[in-house]
Amino acid sequence: MTNLIAGLRAEGRRLTRPRKAILDVLEKSKYPLSAADVHARLKREQVAVDLVTVYRTLAVLKKLGLIAQVELGEGQFRYESRHGREHHHHIRCRGCGRIADLMLCPLKKLTALVERETRFTVEEHSLEFFGWCPKCQ
Ligand SMILES: [Zn+2]
Ligand SMILES: [Zn+2]
Ligand SMILES: [Zn+2]
Repeated sequence: MTNLIAGLRAEGRRLTRPRKAILDVLEKSKYPLSAADVHARLKREQVAVDLVTVYRTLAVLKKLGLIAQVELGEGQFRYESRHGREHHHHIRCRGCGRIADLMLCPLKKLTALVERETRFTVEEHSLEFFGWCPKCQ
């Protein structure tokens, strides 16, 4: 564990500049972004960071607990800043791909039940919704 943290710290220092830029991009976004989205936005802001570095930095930021990883049935991960945001879930439109936050979590009771049934300690869960937004209905 100590090694892991030391490793992350070392990596974190090495990636300080891209880390700040990526956190900034994620904080400004209203919905979770893929690595390619982050890369495109950095490019637009003339921050020179290659895609491999974006992937690596996102992994570090996730391990540090600064960002959340979301999978919305697209075959790719998206990421969002945790700063100032409670744990929450998402709904994605099957038509236009629009993503909205659902600022709630209905799984607290279920989590307790899962822990009781399995004797596992639940660390996290995922629950995403898919449907049609008002414009695509
Ligand atoms: Zn839609
Ligand atoms: Zn969200
Ligand atoms: Zn939840």
